[in-house]
This record gives sequence, C-alpha cells and structure tokens, in this order.
Amino acid sequence: MEENDILKLFEDTGALLNGHFRLSSGLHSGNYFQCALLLQYPDIAEKLCRELANYFKDDKPTCVVAPAIGGIVVSYETGRALGVKALFTERSEGKMTLRRGFELKKEDRVLVVEDVITTGLSTREVLEVVKSKGAEIIGVGCLVNRSGKILDLGVKLKSLAKLDFPTYKPEECPLCKKGIEIKKPGSR
Ligand SMILES: [Zn+2]
Repeated sequence: MEENDILKLFEDTGALLNGHFRLSSGLHSGNYFQCALLLQYPDIAEKLCRELANYFKDDKPTCVVAPAIGGIVVSYETGRALGVKALFTERSEGKMTLRRGFELKKEDRVLVVEDVITTGLSTREVLEVVKSKGAEIIGVGCLVNRSGKILDLGVKLKSLAKLDFPTYKPEECPLCKKGIEIKKPGSR
C-alpha cells in the first residue's frame, strides 16, 4: 500500500481530521489524529498490520512486543500475520515492564511495534525491556511516525505513514485569525 492510500484510510475512518482544533496541550492545530479510531475497525487493523509484518517477515521474528495500551491491537494483528506470539509491556509504578507471566527468551527474535511513535520514548523503553531479557531485536514497526524527524532507535525502523502537523499558540493561530470555529477533538 502506498502512503497516500494509508492516509486516505485514516481520513475515511475519522482518525485524521482536518479543521481547527484545540489540542490537550492547549495549542491549536488544523489537524487532529487519533489512531484508535482507525484501529476500531478490525479489517483495517489487520490489513495495515499485515503490511508491517510483510516488511519484517524475512527477519524471522519469533515474537512481537508493543507498549500498552495503544500498541496492543497492533501487536496482536502483527503477531497474527506473522504467526507468532503477541506480547505487550505496561507500566508498573512508572516503569515499563513485562507482566502477566509474559516471557521472552534469549533465543527470541523480537519485533517491537507501536501504533504511533511521537517522541520515541515508549519505544525506547520497550527496547530496553527486550534487551534486559537478552532477546534479539530485529526492528521497530509503527503505523504512524509523528516524530517529525528520522528517529534513530539503533535498529531498523519502518513506519507506514508519516504525519507532521504544525501547531500554533492560540494568539498566533492563523485559523483563529480567519475566524474558523474551533473544536475540541472528540466532541462533535
Ligand atoms: Zn486557533
């Protein structure tokens, strides 16, 4: 799938909105992105995660790991496409960790996946968890890279789409100057 087809899926599912939005940071933007609105459709989630799986399948991963909550669906569907286990990490007292009896072995070849990479922080935390188990990391895959730059995670990185929207301070917002009605994302 081409990046444009993927962006169209985001728009068609309402995950990517155009307009005038007040973000939770207080900044204004002409776009809003909420990946969960795409992933609520299992058939689309399956299709996109298969794209990620295909990119990494020759590296023969034995396991997929993602950070909860946003990454769980991506881990599960990518694991399904590869025919391997799908695990997730979660925070326990602020520290990213594998819980629930999930195990990684030294022989495991791990593909780390995410729905959206913004700063790369949670991805790095998952990579640390995997390394601490002695398992090999074959790469990182995400549906969307929002970092606005080429991230160096020290491993192969594949993103299906890149999104980089300008944000504005309210007093400098060109959309406010045009008098366009502002919305809070999530409300209609
Ligand atoms: Zn504005």
